[in-house]
Amino acid sequence: MSGLYIHIPFCLRKCPYCDFFSVEDVIPADYPRRLCRHLELAASRLPQRSAFQTIFFGGGTPSLMPPARMGEVLDRAADLFGIDADAEISMEANPGTLTLGDLQDFRAAGINRLSLGVQSLHDASLQRLGRIHDAQQARSACTLARRAGFDNLGLDLMFALPGSTLAALEADITAFLELEPDHLSCYGLTVEEGTPFHRQFSRGHLPLPDENDYAAAFELLHARLTARGFSHYEISNYARPGRQCRHNLRYWQRRSYLGIGPGAHSFYAVEWGERWSVPGDLDLYRSRLRQGSDPAERIETFDRRGAMVETLYLGLRTAEGVDVRLFQERFGDSIEALFPEAVQRCGSYLRQDGDRLHFTLQGWLLYDHLISLFL
Ligand code: SF4
Repeated sequence: MSGLYIHIPFCLRKCPYCDFFSVEDVIPADYPRRLCRHLELAASRLPQRSAFQTIFFGGGTPSLMPPARMGEVLDRAADLFGIDADAEISMEANPGTLTLGDLQDFRAAGINRLSLGVQSLHDASLQRLGRIHDAQQARSACTLARRAGFDNLGLDLMFALPGSTLAALEADITAFLELEPDHLSCYGLTVEEGTPFHRQFSRGHLPLPDENDYAAAFELLHARLTARGFSHYEISNYARPGRQCRHNLRYWQRRSYLGIGPGAHSFYAVEWGERWSVPGDLDLYRSRLRQGSDPAERIETFDRRGAMVETLYLGLRTAEGVDVRLFQERFGDSIEALFPEAVQRCGSYLRQDGDRLHFTLQGWLLYDHLISLFL
């Protein structure tokens, strides 16, 4: 177990497109203590423990947590499991919640990578997305983060926004690049069931780009960001050299991680793999911890076929792709032999360079369709 995800499911205001497990509330005073208790219960269940190489505080809005409390959770994780001296310790932060003092304290508590949910640097788009911050606050958050000593700064950029144009995206990309991030996560807006955006969309009140506009936006991002030295290392993620998010790579490489907090998932790379999940229910979480039972539940035990499919499903999201030699060693047969029809139907969208099998850029644009051929 060498990755740790900690979920902080609290936000000042719920964004109308968001279906992550998070509630509009302040963080309860005892929440950090609950996380420590959860870590203790997980540690007692896991016979083999190794020091964490990556830790990720996600949400929700982890930057609402007092830095000293976050430091206590990290200390408990270090006591129970250990944390590598060069561990990547990331925190998602909302630009509307940050002060220089807090950022300095987060840095001092051990956070060494900041992921800012900027989404856009265009005020009208931020309002449409229901964000609590404006473009100026986002710019200021970047400046303060650098001043506080964060030399690994990632920004989230959202595209395919309602009513957006390629020219507006072009302007947004330019504005993002002026902030000189180390990492950019670029997600097209998706309309998730149960969200206010879904209701607006169903009534025809949310003008979203069509497939061609989406493809043009995806290609524009790729062209502009790679021209500026970013590697497009995963469908939605770009990084300067050496600045890939090591924690997220762990997910795509099917390596073990422990998830703490309601709504968090864990993956154990034992045998063909096991996936566990903590129900997204704050009351249930608290009562299970009170009873001294680990709140996580096993939701999937993979067989060989499931592990093969997931190796492809996750690995082909990355530019590295899947190592065909390792795949054959692990599963006893080649990808072509196991999935002949899917490989043949992917055609030139699937390319092999040395031992790496990966999708081309155009293949990534058709990812959902192409990967379904392997399922
Ligand atoms: S701040 Fe992030 S987690 Fe919270 S509601 Fe908005 S998108 Fe969701």
